[in-house]
Amino acid sequence: MKTEKVIVLPYQKSWVRDFEKISEEINEILGDLILTIEHVGSTAVPGLSAKPIIDMDIVVQNEKDLCQAISLLETIGYQHEGDLGIAGRHAFTYQGKEHLQTHHLYLLCQEVAELRRHKAFRDFLRSHPEDAAAYAQVKEEAATAYPESIEAYMKAKNDIIERIYKEIDMSENTVVDITIIGGGPVGLWAAFYAGLRGMKVKIIESLSELGGQPAILYPEKKIYDIPAYPVITGAELTEQLLEQLKRFEATTDICLKEEVLTFEKNDGIFTIETNKGQHLSKAIIIACGNGAFAPRPLGLENEALFADNNLFYNVHKLDQFAGKKVVIAGGGDSAVDWANHLDGIAESVTLVHRRDAFRAHEHSVAELKASNVQILTPYVPLELTGENGFAKNLKVQKVNGEEVLDLELDALIVSFGFSTNNKNLKNWNIDYKRSSIHVSPQFETSQEGVYAIGDAADYDGKVDLIATGFGEAPTAVNQAIQYIDPSGNNRAVHSTSLIDE
Ligand SMILES: Cc1cc2nc3c(=O)[nH]c(=O)nc-3n(C[C@H](O)[C@H](O)[C@H](O)COP(=O)(O)OP(=O)(O)OC[C@H]3O[C@@H](n4cnc5c(N)ncnc54)[C@H](O)[C@@H]3O)c2cc1C
Repeated sequence: MKTEKVIVLPYQKSWVRDFEKISEEINEILGDLILTIEHVGSTAVPGLSAKPIIDMDIVVQNEKDLCQAISLLETIGYQHEGDLGIAGRHAFTYQGKEHLQTHHLYLLCQEVAELRRHKAFRDFLRSHPEDAAAYAQVKEEAATAYPESIEAYMKAKNDIIERIYKEIDMSENTVVDITIIGGGPVGLWAAFYAGLRGMKVKIIESLSELGGQPAILYPEKKIYDIPAYPVITGAELTEQLLEQLKRFEATTDICLKEEVLTFEKNDGIFTIETNKGQHLSKAIIIACGNGAFAPRPLGLENEALFADNNLFYNVHKLDQFAGKKVVIAGGGDSAVDWANHLDGIAESVTLVHRRDAFRAHEHSVAELKASNVQILTPYVPLELTGENGFAKNLKVQKVNGEEVLDLELDALIVSFGFSTNNKNLKNWNIDYKRSSIHVSPQFETSQEGVYAIGDAADYDGKVDLIATGFGEAPTAVNQAIQYIDPSGNNRAVHSTSLIDE
């Protein structure tokens, strides 16, 4: 829900009661679905001037509860607006709430990064009155300067908000023990093992999902050489690793869609620069495989606006497309398989490919041709348009022709594959050759406090297998622990004596 007129008032004690009144109504309808309701935003900071709008985050456990909560909220007048461009944060408009203070209602799952950001911002301002006063002054001045333009008001606040977030990042309690670069199978397993050893861990992954090569490149392929699994697919292996890591979710921070660009050590603490900001860490384990994965884009203007809303580069849950008009762009195995799987689930499926022939298994192509999928070849994407962060239309043009078709859509799947690059290695001040980092038998790189494991690590006799990386991780973690605290007892203990249930 968007405010158009800008009014900033001095702090009112009544905002606490306003928040409680709205919470009571929400609690009545959502009951046990709610883990907690957080009062966030400026009205939650005593003493801070604010627009008289109560920002509140309703926190639920998982996607299933989230869907149920959206339906229940609709029964009491809240209409779901989608995430409005902020991943994982669901916004609502409402009618018939004149008895309540104006509010912004957001629904989020507990692990969503935006929830952590909201709480960190509020808690920082609550505990730093000088910063809160400076922020209040900027808001008051901006409201006076731009009473009619919420966009100009928001823009005027950008610098101070950015500075506050930087300070939050730099504050002592955000220095983690071990940062793992790369959320592939080896990084995930290393994070679990570090959790088992009592470490505070951060995983930084360039993609919007975890799992590395098995999850992205071969989710359906069967793997036969994972110890104790006679056979397991790439997707199943990823699921198991994530399930295992859940045990330490309270001490594991996961940062998705962040690519590590550089890192540098000052006073014993590494400052890690990503495309999104900075992270602080006592030690680093590199598990970046052959480099950062990135989806190959459609290459159209506006594409980034719709990504993660209704434009997808990978598909996990087919039922999220139930009853929708789906357009798929691509001609490889994944594009053809997704088209076949969605036929019968989606309202309609259109497959657009720039060539007449598909690069997919013969039997999948035969299945496609016998299905209800509308096949458009040879066509290329020309223009993508939409509103409120959601793509609505894709124009496609016939190759070597003038003909243009306008495809109405509810969801767009871009299946052009993924690229990897290890261009960042040259900025990490470590010895490496091509994509391989030279390591000692303890998986130390040439920089103290930085370790490398998995496909990224190279030594005589190295074999690039998942099992090899799994074996390397505990040694690297134990070395990192020793480096962080040389005086500590670093005797590796069996998990059977570390976990007591
Ligand atoms: C088709 C195929 C089949 C295979 N079959 C088998 C098999 O049967 N058995 C087997 O043992 N192995 C198999 N492998 C090899 C196996 O997948 C790899 O050995 C394994 O994935 C290595 O794991 P990793 O975690 O080291 O790296 P990856 O799986 O490559 O994961 C690295 C992760 O780090 C991220 N990353 C990289 N750079 C950055 C950065 N700068 N910032 C943030 N994130 C970054 C990447 O996006 C990626 O998600 C196969 C590989 C392929 C391609």
